[in-house]
Amino acid sequence: MRLRPVLVVHYHEISLKRGNRPLFLRHLRRNVERALSDTGPAAVEQLSGRILVDLEGHGAPEAARDRVAQIFGVASVTIAYRTPSTLDGMKALLDRLLEGRSFASFRITARRAFKTYPMTSVELNRALGAFVLERVPTRVDLEHAEQEIHVEVLPAETYISLDRVEGPGGLPVGTAGTVATLLSGGIDSPVAAWRMMKRGCRVIFVHFHSVPYLPATSQAKARALVERLTAWQYASRLHQVAFGEIQREVVLSVPPPLRVVVYRRLMIRIAEELARRSGALALATGESLGQVASQTLENIARIDEAATLPVLRPLIGMDKLEITAQAQRIGTFDISIEPDADCCTLFTPRHPATRMEAEAVAALEARLDLERLVTQGVEGARLETFEFPAAAVASRS
Ligand code: ATP
Ligand code: MG
Repeated sequence: MRLRPVLVVHYHEISLKRGNRPLFLRHLRRNVERALSDTGPAAVEQLSGRILVDLEGHGAPEAARDRVAQIFGVASVTIAYRTPSTLDGMKALLDRLLEGRSFASFRITARRAFKTYPMTSVELNRALGAFVLERVPTRVDLEHAEQEIHVEVLPAETYISLDRVEGPGGLPVGTAGTVATLLSGGIDSPVAAWRMMKRGCRVIFVHFHSVPYLPATSQAKARALVERLTAWQYASRLHQVAFGEIQREVVLSVPPPLRVVVYRRLMIRIAEELARRSGALALATGESLGQVASQTLENIARIDEAATLPVLRPLIGMDKLEITAQAQRIGTFDISIEPDADCCTLFTPRHPATRMEAEAVAALEARLDLERLVTQGVEGARLETFEFPAAAVASRS
């Protein structure tokens, strides 16, 4: 018997969204194709509540599986093998898959994608379980099986797999619209961007740097972070905004403790204009309530008053420890902790005001030519683009 690997991809949340299901599936399927585009031949089809990826001639099913395990919207993915849906066919395939394997306990988890199959799931579990017990010295353990054997009976064929990897869940990127994330070089904002992607958003990035007043490290960090995050959304745009000159003008008229909020409001206005030009419907930041002086409710209110688009803050209720753990899991932490001078440290005191009245901010901003400063930031922004997998870029250029 020749084994022919297939990825069986399961999704759950998507099936809840009845009206939108075709849209979700279209994006999920496209994202699977995109994520696998450089790994080898992979034929993607949708079938009975799953996505199947035929890996005939692929050569590296594990690599393909690991890619798919990193696609938002995927609940789980397995490398499975097919057989005709007869009990004998399933036994013959199982026999082959069990070669050389040993495990202290197991369970069979059979699922039928169509209910007219002559055996029920329970009957299949029993029959195939008895077969495994004949071949392998082991026992059944439904609660804590060392080896779970998945059997999926689809109309045309049955798929059996011995390894299942959890996906990240969430919704397929592209289904929820675009948001512009303000990306510093810090730990928080990359996590905020990732969480927006997990809810199906495509993220465009806006970074403010203070070259030539500060070294270009923050730009390089933003670039490295976006490169890492692009593995979750396949294509990214990063706007690098020169903020140093703008800050210098603010410094001339705004006293030190009040500068941070004024800087942030300018950032919001510039990001918003860039967002609009990209069709983004909201902004997102990495703020978490009370984490630093600029993140009090009062200051958040002042920042929001400068915005006309919604400002989303996916980390608002998270502790630094939780955010850090997440940053480590998604691979941005190591980049974020590289030493760097943030633009907000430029011309800023150690102890910024934690409370400002709206009138006070308005009075400060009346001394600035806001419109010109925003235009200067927007027009001077440099666009960088990223693609994942990298080979997709190479083949296009
Ligand atoms: P982070 O870890 O994301 O840098 P932080 O804890 O340093 O956040 P702040 O410095 O108050 O907090 O920044 C709050 C948010 O403002 C950031 O999460 C980010 O969204 C945005 N922001 C701050 N500095 C920049 C910058 N230089 N470029 C783009 N966005 C920025
Ligand atoms: Mg920061």
